[in-house]
Amino acid sequence: MIRYSVQCSQGHVFDEWFSNSADYDVKAAAGEIACPDCGDHQISKAIMAPSVAKSAAAPAAACPVSGCAGGGCPFSGGH
Ligand SMILES: [Zn+2]
Repeated sequence: MIRYSVQCSQGHVFDEWFSNSADYDVKAAAGEIACPDCGDHQISKAIMAPSVAKSAAAPAAACPVSGCAGGGCPFSGGH
C-alpha cells in the first residue's frame, strides 16, 4: 500500500491509500476518489514533502568570516 496526499480542485488536501501508483492513476481517472470535504472528484496529487523542498531551497552556508557582510562575499568560491 502507498499513501498519497491528494488535492481536489477546491484546494482541499487529504490522504488516500492506494495499492500502488498505478492504482492511483486508475482511480483518479475513473473519478473514484472523492474529496471528503466537498465531494469533488477532480483529484490531483498534492505537492508533498515540504521538508524536501525546503532543504532543496536552503541558502548556501553562511560565510564564517567575522564581519563579512555577505553580499558580494566570495565565500562560495573560497574565502
Ligand atoms: Zn474538496
